[in-house]
Amino acid sequence: MTMPRPSAWIPFLVPLIFLGAIGLAAAVLALKPDSILSWVGYGVAGLLLLWLAGTTFWPARADRACPECGQEALERMDPTTTMGLCCTQCTYQDPLASGWFLAEEEVEGLDDLVRQQRQTMRDSKR
Ligand SMILES: [Zn+2]
Repeated sequence: MTMPRPSAWIPFLVPLIFLGAIGLAAAVLALKPDSILSWVGYGVAGLLLLWLAGTTFWPARADRACPECGQEALERMDPTTTMGLCCTQCTYQDPLASGWFLAEEEVEGLDDLVRQQRQTMRDSKR
């Protein structure tokens, strides 16, 4: 029987580390609710709640501004992939730029697109 590599255990330790941090924070709050450390904890928790609300109500949008002409005219070069951007107002093209955020907004079945891309990459390696 062989033991798994040490790095294989890390994904199993992460939830335990988070639970330990939560338990430690609860212990600090229970033992000294008005200490400086508790107020720092309240501040961090408040910032996390603000961040959660901000990203929920104002989610990220794709930046369609062209780096060359500044127009809101960036498009994906190929609608069958998430790689490559081009501008419809000038000659700007970048085949290595990620069009992931644009694809997220445009494509309904993004999972199918990603599966198709992976299959194309596997087929090209053979
Ligand atoms: Zn442009």
